[in-house]
Amino acid sequence: MSDSQPALLVVSAHAGDFVWRAGGAIAAAARRGERAVVVCLSYGERGESARAWREGKGLDEIKAMRRGEAEDAAAALGAEVEFFDAGDYPLVESREVVDRLVRLYRDVSPTVVLTHPLADPYNGDHPAAARMALDARVLAQAIGYDAPGEPLGAPPVFFFEPHQPEQCDFKPNVLLDITDAFAAKRKAMECLAAQQHMWDYYTDLAARRGVQLTRNAGPNLGFTTETKGEAYMRYYPQVARELA
Ligand SMILES: [Zn+2]
Repeated sequence: MSDSQPALLVVSAHAGDFVWRAGGAIAAAARRGERAVVVCLSYGERGESARAWREGKGLDEIKAMRRGEAEDAAAALGAEVEFFDAGDYPLVESREVVDRLVRLYRDVSPTVVLTHPLADPYNGDHPAAARMALDARVLAQAIGYDAPGEPLGAPPVFFFEPHQPEQCDFKPNVLLDITDAFAAKRKAMECLAAQQHMWDYYTDLAARRGVQLTRNAGPNLGFTTETKGEAYMRYYPQVARELA
């Protein structure tokens, strides 16, 4: 367990979020042979399973269904997945959930962390997940915090793209090439039958972010009209020995 071993940790409020917003980054990491770990703080059983409720399913049945979908999606991306079952709508911030996250940070020793942005006027669970992810990162760095494992280093945190970016103060400063990983992302999206209306939306978004990526990269880096992208916002400053 060392900071030099790349590992990606994704903190997702609900069972589907990591697929729409970061599936490309997760699949790309897995394709490089890196460890990718997703934690779903809840199943999205109340707030993001409308079709199942309309079909008359019960709470436990919906949770099991969402869990199965997320497991299939994570497998399609090449990621491990954990579920905290902390409840949604609302996802309540608690010392217990933060402590479980600290233990996960110490176990995974991530070199990169992905989570939601800190603002989302449409869904309070998303910022709550982000606050707990950030709080736990800080606590996991403290040698005196009572949890197994070595203190965490300083993995960069990237916010992944929310559904309505302008309202969430989301202004991308990283455009990630997910072209080679996109087939896995689409396959993972298709595991989420409860949110089928999102499949084409996020396929189109990947193409638009790909166009913007190509425009920002300039003509000499080999990007094409087939390039697919995901947008991220870096939370802490980038550290560099030279500007590039
Ligand atoms: Zn969500």
